[in-house]
Amino acid sequence: MPEVPVTAIARPAKGSAGRTGLWRTERPLIDSSKCVKCLLCWLYCPEGAITRGEDDSVEVDYEYCKGCGICANECPVKAIEMVPEAI
Ligand code: SF4
Ligand code: SF4
Repeated sequence: MPEVPVTAIARPAKGSAGRTGLWRTERPLIDSSKCVKCLLCWLYCPEGAITRGEDDSVEVDYEYCKGCGICANECPVKAIEMVPEAI
């Protein structure tokens, strides 16, 4: 029987499905004045499209954010609002 390599992925790789920003109809906007730096959005983003700064501030990489809204749902202080994508 051939040996099957075992791999573990702790977090999705950014852009593992390509430039997923092209899928978006809504974009998340982070209100940094409300953000408590809990990093839940960073943990839950399925595209790894939220970047974490050295001070734990968070930013969205719109090249890869697909607009799923998971970050907005997970944010405990409602610091992330989903707004329609400008056409
Ligand atoms: S909407 Fe939020 S969770 Fe979804 S891909 Fe964009 S940054 Fe990630
Ligand atoms: S989930 Fe909300 S409060 Fe937590 S880091 Fe993200 S934007 Fe900030």
